Amino acid sequence: MKAYTTSKRLFERSGAALAGGVSSSLRAAMRPVPLFAASGRGAVVTDADGNRYIDYLLAYGPLILGHAHPELTERIHAAMTNGYTFGLQHEGEIELAARLTEALPCAEQVAFSGSGTEAVMLALRIARSHTGRTKIVRFHGHYHGWSDAIFTAFPSADMKGGAASDAGGKTMPGTGGQSELALQDVILLPWNDAVALEETLRARGHEVAAVITEPVMCNSGCIRPRDGYLERMRELTRELGIVLIFDEVITGFRFGLGGAHERFGIAPDLMTMGKALAGGIALSAVAGSRELMRVVSSGKVSHLGTLNGNCVATAAAIATLDILGRNGGEAFVRMEATAARLAQGLRERIAANGFRGVVNQEGPVFHMMFIDRDAVEDFAAFSERDGALYSDFAERMLEEGVLVRTNGLWYVSTEHTEAHAEATLQAADRALARLA
Ligand code: PLP
Repeated sequence: MKAYTTSKRLFERSGAALAGGVSSSLRAAMRPVPLFAASGRGAVVTDADGNRYIDYLLAYGPLILGHAHPELTERIHAAMTNGYTFGLQHEGEIELAARLTEALPCAEQVAFSGSGTEAVMLALRIARSHTGRTKIVRFHGHYHGWSDAIFTAFPSADMKGGAASDAGGKTMPGTGGQSELALQDVILLPWNDAVALEETLRARGHEVAAVITEPVMCNSGCIRPRDGYLERMRELTRELGIVLIFDEVITGFRFGLGGAHERFGIAPDLMTMGKALAGGIALSAVAGSRELMRVVSSGKVSHLGTLNGNCVATAAAIATLDILGRNGGEAFVRMEATAARLAQGLRERIAANGFRGVVNQEGPVFHMMFIDRDAVEDFAAFSERDGALYSDFAERMLEEGVLVRTNGLWYVSTEHTEAHAEATLQAADRALARLA
């Protein structure tokens, strides 16, 4: 049994001056204690007690190239030695913007910011300013950051603070201290339900500035869109003059260089991206058509942020795009194959150990859940999962040397090999046997 002695000691200490002892509320959910990291290399992270783990948390997604990737590290270092940020323009911004407009089918122009939350805030403003309307349609189970304008109660096992549930169609604040008025412009709908979407948009489309969606519902079950659903969303929003926003903070640079919208062949009007974009350095962006971005170019919409587009972040993103794009993007094929192998192996081991479960995989990301069903295709079904059992499993996986998020979402990086996958499946076998 691992004792996690140093992490426990550090966590006791951290609460003294650091509110809650963690820097993001999610991290407090980790059991038996929020782990303290010492170092990371490739697919492996080492904690403060010297325990090593194959890492599928990947810092909640950004580490698409794993930890301390040598080339990425070298290029970040080279950028830093030249001055990290100037508050002046620099050529890295021009180059990265051009690279993004080449890679992303929906992008004619981009605007940089620091986090996914900020990119979503900007996208909503662009949509409102462009349309002159105020309502935003969003969906149950999706997460678009924690700004007042969009954060509704989120039923993730590791997210706390808001109301217990947003079931029943009521839009509940996602956190204490959030203005309830901020959500009065949010219309919350079930996802993957084309009828509900069409009814709402036909009735209220004249008030709706934007429909915002994760193209794959990665935040709740890694659920893929039903055949024709995103196409219908595209048709309806186009017909009714509503801005369609794909929130690709998770899917961007993970499902291929062109993100989920290239994969599905549907171009949104705006796209948000973050996480994997700069491989672990804070950077996010909004991309869209020149016509929509005009409200930013003209200054009608303020686009602010002291560290936006800084030299370190843009260098990291250009390096990440270079590395991912090599050899025709074979890294994406490899990551997806590893994820598929893990997902299938986990399905088999869940059953072999006498449990019922579902593993939904799309690209290099998957969600494992314990649930008495054969398939999970919408949020209502996802809500039936046994989150407490999964959290026990995650704790046992830690014992076995595998780090996974407590809510069931796994990320695969370019650095995860066949050998890592095999070791992980053997660990899962042992963890499940202990759970049974
Ligand atoms: N959008 C999606 C789809 C996300 O998954 C997240 C974060 O998990 C965000 C937005 C917010 O990004 P950030 O945590 O960088 O603010």
